[in-house]
Amino acid sequence: MLFNSKKRITLRTLGDEVLAKVAEPVLNVDDEIRQLAREMIEATVVFNGIGLAAPQYGVSKRMVVLDVPMDSMSEIPTPGEEQLLPRMPLVLINPEIISSSNSRSTRDEGCLSVPDIYAPVERPEKVVLRSMTLDGDMIEAECGGLLGRCIQHELDHLEGKCFTDRLSPEAAREVAGEIKRLIRYGEKKSFMRTKSVK
Ligand code: ZN
Repeated sequence: MLFNSKKRITLRTLGDEVLAKVAEPVLNVDDEIRQLAREMIEATVVFNGIGLAAPQYGVSKRMVVLDVPMDSMSEIPTPGEEQLLPRMPLVLINPEIISSSNSRSTRDEGCLSVPDIYAPVERPEKVVLRSMTLDGDMIEAECGGLLGRCIQHELDHLEGKCFTDRLSPEAAREVAGEIKRLIRYGEKKSFMRTKSVK
């Protein structure tokens, strides 16, 4: 081939101001939004993620891609897992959590914007998601398991929050050094991480 046809996909890393902003609602699902959705799905796949919020892609809009694996289905699945896991990758437009369970669970989380750092986060076990999809369907379903956790993690990004803001003091201490190094590295790289794809 004469040309180098490699495309570069870039995500923002912790410390970038776009990750600390409250994202703007999507007013119209137009070609620009559909194109953004395609690019975000591609980025999720290329970076091997199970979810991606638009601010992580550098766009301060209330949009999320979920690509949670089918085999994460809980033993007793919530209606949301049954309804949504077969539809992955799924693009959510202006998603909201309208209620959260009192029961909570703790599990290690990671984030494409916080590469190679994992720490336990306590969250409600189940949430009720209300959202439009890219196709214009309205979803309202109770979601637990990995899906419920991923939804909460991604929706946090729309509020300018990262899982590192939700750590217990002990967990925060454990990863403080790694986070400092990540931010220092980010300052040199304009808070971008890039992968090339064909
Ligand atoms: Zn994240």
